Amino acid sequence: MVARGLALLVLALPLAATAAGTIAIDVGHYLGAPGVTSAHGRPEFEFNRDLAQDLDTELQARGRVTQLIGADGSMNVLAARPRAAAGAALFVAVHHDSMQERLLSTWTYEGVERRYGDQFEGFSLFVSRENAGWKKGLACASRIGAALIKAGFKPSLYHADPKVGENRAFADKRNGVHYFDRLVVLRNARMPALLFEAGVIVNREEEKRMADPAVRKRIAAAVANGIEGCLP
Ligand SMILES: [Zn+2]
Repeated sequence: MVARGLALLVLALPLAATAAGTIAIDVGHYLGAPGVTSAHGRPEFEFNRDLAQDLDTELQARGRVTQLIGADGSMNVLAARPRAAAGAALFVAVHHDSMQERLLSTWTYEGVERRYGDQFEGFSLFVSRENAGWKKGLACASRIGAALIKAGFKPSLYHADPKVGENRAFADKRNGVHYFDRLVVLRNARMPALLFEAGVIVNREEEKRMADPAVRKRIAAAVANGIEGCLP
């Protein structure tokens, strides 16, 4: 009985670490390398952390178990992120977008010269076919895109353009989902995984929207709706 008890204990440990059905929310970037600098000079990491926390709150309010990864800004090893999510049902990386360097212009804000690009706006979603759970990840990304569109947000679509984007093929054009097979954080995930770019923060107007707590809550609610659609 003792031996059997121990065996059960060992089997139970990984489940205890991450409850079944957990949704892992990964805050993109970290304090030492905070991603894109917005048109007004704010680091992407701060946008990612704020939105990820809102999504975390929204999902918990709906009775979901969540795991926030990298919110303290110390997660400096990319592959450690999906590892930290081991056992989760879904991995959602939260980011904010830029565009190609050569498309950016210069302006002065608060006495500092900054880079901006107002040409593009909107959200985009990415999945990797090298991710073990990519088909489910794609189903979730499509649901999230559809929920965002229903809530009044628009897919950016420019990442698919060979000239002004990166020629990233659509996985689901209508819902703004692309393939990005080599993306480390997705291909290393053992569970269905997707990356969400909520908006383009080098765009001066969109940056203001993304920083608005009311807009952020609407985005979080739409993403939660999409997740509930694929993980009922
Ligand atoms: Zn990013």
